Amino acid sequence: MRYLLTFLITCLVASSSLNGITPSAPQIRILVVTGGHAYKVEQFNEMLSSLGDNITFQVVEFPAAYDMFLPENRGKYDVLVFYHMWQKITDEQAKNFSDCIKQGKPVVVLHHSICAFDDWPEYFDIIGGKFFHKPTTVKGKTYPVSSYIHDIHFNVKVSNPKHPVTKGLKDFEIFDETYKDYYVEAGVTPLLTIVEQTSTPIIGWTKKYGKARIVTLQSGHDVPTFENPNFRKLLKQSIEWVYKGK
Ligand SMILES: [Zn+2]
Repeated sequence: MRYLLTFLITCLVASSSLNGITPSAPQIRILVVTGGHAYKVEQFNEMLSSLGDNITFQVVEFPAAYDMFLPENRGKYDVLVFYHMWQKITDEQAKNFSDCIKQGKPVVVLHHSICAFDDWPEYFDIIGGKFFHKPTTVKGKTYPVSSYIHDIHFNVKVSNPKHPVTKGLKDFEIFDETYKDYYVEAGVTPLLTIVEQTSTPIIGWTKKYGKARIVTLQSGHDVPTFENPNFRKLLKQSIEWVYKGK
């Protein structure tokens, strides 16, 4: 019996390896939250599919996505990936949303998700930043309206190459939309910076919110970024690192 078990386990490990899954790579189920902003769905999903066999995804759109923050649904996924620009939220939805993260559900925030929830200041604390559609006061300081410009070629500097999110990455070129004059919380750990007059200097950072690790990446507007191998590596390592904090 013992030999049979050993044999079966060996077969299982062997078949996992054949499928390209290394036994040590944890399986991570990501929940991609969209809504409130159009995007190229097919190419975006192609990027998600390219992240490796250990990462699987499902996509859910606001407002239906609010149900996934309810306690009974939190076990259905491991990592939240935000690619939404949703604005409308009730007090009850906000409480479930924030509890889900505070209690340890990690998040990777992409691009226009920095522009969501104009009237929910706790969201700025969760993600560690905010693009302002209107003058906004945060912690006693009033910020002007932020701006954006499409189709900019720029160089991304990996300011923290030892961090697990950026390990193995060198400074790289990207063609993307930039945001300027958005708020970045003072306590975040910067990972990526740029010197570009149309942008705020910090374009990637990490922080903790409650028990959850958060990574926020400003890039990710369109197909050139979805196809950028450096961005894909960054996204994969972000998902894996926030997951490990659980
Ligand atoms: Zn955009």
